[in-house]
Amino acid sequence: SKWVYNFGGGDSEGRSDMRNLLGGKGANLAEMASIGLPVPPGFTITTEVCAHFTETSEYPDDVAKQVEEGLKHIEQITGAKFGDASNPLLVSVRSGARVSMPGMMDTVLNLGLNDSTVEGLARQSNDERFAYDSYRRFIQMFGDVVLGVDHYHFEEILELAKEDRGVNLDTELTAEDWKGVIEQYKAKIADEIGTPFPQDPKDQLWAAIAAVFQSWTNQRAVTYRRLHQIPEAWGTAVNIQAMVFGNMGDDCATGVAFTRDPSTGENEFYGEYLVNAQGEDVVAGIRTPQNITVRSKEKQGSDMPAMEEVMPDVFRQLLEVRGLLEQHYRDMQDIEFTVQGGKLYMLQTRAGKRTAKAALKIAVDMVQDGVLTEEEAVQRVDPASLDQLLHPTLDPEAERKVIGRGLPASPGAASGAIVFTADNAEKLANDGQKVILCRIETSPEDIHGMHAAKGILTTRGGMTSHAAVVARGMGRPCVAGAGELRIDYKSGVLRAGAVELKEGDLITLDGATGEIIQGHVPTVEPELSGDFAHLMEWADRVRTLKVRTNAETPTDCRTAVSFGAEGIGLCRTEHMFFEADRIVAVREMILAESEEGRRKALEKLLPMQRQDFIDIFRIMKGLPVTIRLLDPPLHEFLPNGEAEIEEVSRSAGVPVEQTRARMLKLHEVNPMLGHRGCRLGITYPEIYEMQVRAIFEAAVEVHKRDGDTIVPEIMIPLVSVKKELEILRALVERVAQEVMEHHTQKIQYLVGTMIELPRAALRAADIAEEADFFSFGTNDLTQTTFGLSRDDAGNFLPSYQSQGILEQDPFISLDQEGVGELVSIATERGRKARPGIKLGICGEHGGDPSSIRFCHETGLEYVSCSPFRVPIARLAAAQAAL
Ligand code: ADP
Ligand code: MG
Ligand code: MG
Repeated sequence: SKWVYNFGGGDSEGRSDMRNLLGGKGANLAEMASIGLPVPPGFTITTEVCAHFTETSEYPDDVAKQVEEGLKHIEQITGAKFGDASNPLLVSVRSGARVSMPGMMDTVLNLGLNDSTVEGLARQSNDERFAYDSYRRFIQMFGDVVLGVDHYHFEEILELAKEDRGVNLDTELTAEDWKGVIEQYKAKIADEIGTPFPQDPKDQLWAAIAAVFQSWTNQRAVTYRRLHQIPEAWGTAVNIQAMVFGNMGDDCATGVAFTRDPSTGENEFYGEYLVNAQGEDVVAGIRTPQNITVRSKEKQGSDMPAMEEVMPDVFRQLLEVRGLLEQHYRDMQDIEFTVQGGKLYMLQTRAGKRTAKAALKIAVDMVQDGVLTEEEAVQRVDPASLDQLLHPTLDPEAERKVIGRGLPASPGAASGAIVFTADNAEKLANDGQKVILCRIETSPEDIHGMHAAKGILTTRGGMTSHAAVVARGMGRPCVAGAGELRIDYKSGVLRAGAVELKEGDLITLDGATGEIIQGHVPTVEPELSGDFAHLMEWADRVRTLKVRTNAETPTDCRTAVSFGAEGIGLCRTEHMFFEADRIVAVREMILAESEEGRRKALEKLLPMQRQDFIDIFRIMKGLPVTIRLLDPPLHEFLPNGEAEIEEVSRSAGVPVEQTRARMLKLHEVNPMLGHRGCRLGITYPEIYEMQVRAIFEAAVEVHKRDGDTIVPEIMIPLVSVKKELEILRALVERVAQEVMEHHTQKIQYLVGTMIELPRAALRAADIAEEADFFSFGTNDLTQTTFGLSRDDAGNFLPSYQSQGILEQDPFISLDQEGVGELVSIATERGRKARPGIKLGICGEHGGDPSSIRFCHETGLEYVSCSPFRVPIARLAAAQAAL
């Protein structure tokens, strides 16, 4: 088989759409060469070789031979010969995965140099200084990235050499100086690794190739992949390419550029370069790079001349390439180039990384310029990146004193005073203060504090920890699992290295980067009109999947509607039970020993629930609202601590001992699988009766007040057996009938269920006989399908991902093979039994783009997600439809 693909010299074997096989870099080098751009010739060893090598530590047969042929291809075009002492070919060895990935091996330049080829290079270029400068760079890079000799060894030797010669800059060292440095480098390497620096260019080449492949599995790369959900199986390609030299004098240079401004999206060429320099000198900060255009020079107030001024001819070549690339790729490009002897060479191009704002502007501009269609523009913006636009963000101009870092668990930025308890958060927030709730971790007890806080910081837990999930749901910025920080509740301090902060001190969280910043940093508000509105309009035109929201508070409902939600897919009634003004009545209800006691407490709750629904129905103005009846195990509402126990006992008029005994009785070993969901409705029907009554009375009331026709969708949670739904459906119908008769008003409504247990998915045909709709509760369905508790998964899920057992966190991105199959089965069986049954999804996955694509393909009618994810879901649904 074919393991090696040549590029350059007019017969490139790769294309830009072969990035899976050739990596992004290799695919685009081939593409650039074939559209006639000046690319030094080379070849790409495929990602399949990497996969083979990673598994067996060996190369497939034939790779060696094909690499030989690749070298010949380069030799033919350049006329130089690899390892030849008089006319040596030098190459770079460059890694390149499908997506660019920091943490992989750095590039090795000038490979092929040794003690004799360096002399050939000197003679041939007639520039001894250049030849030895290249050699020392090679030894340093190869020593560091291939042989694993720490780079500070080399830096130390170089610094001493400069001190010796009394100079400041590398460029001031002479050929003789470099020779001395090279001898020391080689001695250092021999010292560190026990063998001399390899002189045979072939040995050098194969060692570098192996190092690239090995770097795919180094710790940094593995961690990066896990954080960015990149599969282990992809592997990296290796690119071997003829060197061109930007360090051969003042008509040489190296640089990087964006064809448009990557932070604003303005249609302005933006780039930086260095004269007489090589490779990464520009980004390494050895010298300050210069601007490419006069305009950006002036914008930045730089006093160094722009390329446009000092190398006008090269600048013209570059402008032409910019035009050709944008025309060809029809997208903003990020390019790397080198200039040798006044001639431009292209070394890399890729779609440029950009802020969400720039992505929007570029896509919309390109539609207005007739370069892209509206559909293409819709596909150009990463739905997840919209998050950056929907929350206030830190003013990029403002100064930041970063004191620590955690996981960017929920986007947005917030500043406020540190508080360590949920109660304090609520108290201070009620006094009008902005607070940041700082906890080691959070639990359901902290919900009120999380709600009151502007942002949440935890020192423990991952992207799916309680804090992270709840914060995302609430649209609160959250930095989770900041392990280097210490929170000491007792002494009330938060320690970050040497910095010690107390309650009341100001901090700022950047939920987009995970940064924790001391003090207050100003924020800028999101901009939802203009480019954003255009793109969303185009997205809405193409999508077929509807987008609803998971919301229960008026604020969330309003936010969701302003973001374009087309209804509520999940209104969780238990959140309403937690409100401070009713928790006592809720506890009284739970602690009651008899039905009569429960009914008494429920009487107190009825008007409050009714008001909740009135508020929601009025905001939703006739849009569909799915209301889930009480779901969590009752013990979640139990009092904590003596004061609360006494309070509720007093209110219920029972002795404290009785309350305690009842609490013991409610204790469950495994509440997630315990007395919850419809099991509550079966055993304590009066609870559901109260809720249903509240819903229907609210619908009557809103119709009377606003004239809106409300069609409530009553959802029964955690059904696994048809009979459960049959009983509870009858309950709903009975209460609905009572309310309608009492008010002599007819209300249309639906009764359905969540499908969140494997049995329910399998028995969907029976269950559908009782259900007007199914809503896939994929959070619980994931937990119960895997037999995996979401709250406990943080301890082992990361190692499952790093070992490639699970490619993605199934709580973030739906496990399409397993959980997805249950969804498909239930969809098919449900539809067969009841054609026209309404189907939707309301798990966290409803806001995840790849899960949304799955929902579209499975033929669901809608997804439902947290309010801030609504625009993301609209865009992702559009992309799925294209
Ligand atoms: P990265 O993926 O980190 O950007 P690259 O493989 O692109 O690494 O290499 C980094 C830099 O090295 C390039 O931008 C270019 O300046 C330089 N470089 C790589 N290959 C060559 C080459 N064949 N000739 C000259 N410079 C090269
Ligand atoms: Mg590069
Ligand atoms: Mg559930």
